[in-house]
Amino acid sequence: MDGTSLPARFARLRGIPLHCPRDQTPLLEGDETLRCPRCGAGFPVLGGIPVLIHDGASVFAISDYLGGASYEGAAYGRQADRAGGLRRAYRQLARRLGDAPSSIRHPDATAALAYVRTLHAAPRVLVIGSGGLRLGEAGDIVVQTDVAFAPDVDAIADAHDLPFPSGSFDLVVAVAVLEHVADPQRCVAEMTRVLAPKGHVFAVTPFLQPVHMGAYDFTRFTPIGHRRLFRGFDEVAAGVAMGAGSMVAWSLRGLFQSVSSARWWQVVASGLGLLLTPPFRMLDRWLAHAADASGGCWFFGRKRDGDPVTDRELVATYRHTFRLGPTALPPPEI
Ligand SMILES: [Zn+2]
Repeated sequence: MDGTSLPARFARLRGIPLHCPRDQTPLLEGDETLRCPRCGAGFPVLGGIPVLIHDGASVFAISDYLGGASYEGAAYGRQADRAGGLRRAYRQLARRLGDAPSSIRHPDATAALAYVRTLHAAPRVLVIGSGGLRLGEAGDIVVQTDVAFAPDVDAIADAHDLPFPSGSFDLVVAVAVLEHVADPQRCVAEMTRVLAPKGHVFAVTPFLQPVHMGAYDFTRFTPIGHRRLFRGFDEVAAGVAMGAGSMVAWSLRGLFQSVSSARWWQVVASGLGLLLTPPFRMLDRWLAHAADASGGCWFFGRKRDGDPVTDRELVATYRHTFRLGPTALPPPEI
């Protein structure tokens, strides 16, 4: 130790201590490495970002990151595009079409933060799978983690073994994350552990959306399956995230791509599918009531004091449709 406390060195962690992801022991600071005094594991700090991966348990290895804190360094889905010229222009257009927002409007992570702000003067927030998006404003206690380097990532961490003490946060956000983890139950257990009593969780997870990010796409959840994942929480609000229109756009793309595996056809099919994506997504506005055919679902809940919701109670909450409402969350009953 050089006398500098860990949170002081990692200013963006805003006082949240770092623990060993293997055994939850507070980490000690070395020159370029954080070290666990209990198990002896070392965790590199690259470009100021600690890599806090449980090397023996994660699908990611610490050596994956040693190329440095560049966005190309991580073997994951969000690498920078190194292509040039026409190909780059096409990929940028494709990305824009593919990212065309669903016309379903629903509360997002910012709405969840606004809700939690009404309960805490300075809520402590953990974002899992933040990518390059920062939640909140400067001065907020928002710790952003991902398994890949990105501009606003504060620490590299795997949701199966979160490197934070129990009860450290008032809100945990996981948008488009739980389909990408090998064991979602374990990740939700970790999210629950790091939440303070009555802490809140906000999650958006795909249901009928096809595979994306290749090998790093493990699971889908029906709306009731998604609710079950969060059975240690009381529901504050929940709904569908993408409607049947988005699903049709993805299915058409899959249909075109199924015709031939020839490379040129895959490019044409992908382009055709992408061109059809925005108009079908527009349809979501009217089609979204069919929760059973939605592209995904969102859940906002409060950590329960007692036992988890039983499966019998759970099936009684089944809804064929979700009300499509405002993008704000209902104010808490204090
Ligand atoms: Zn350890």
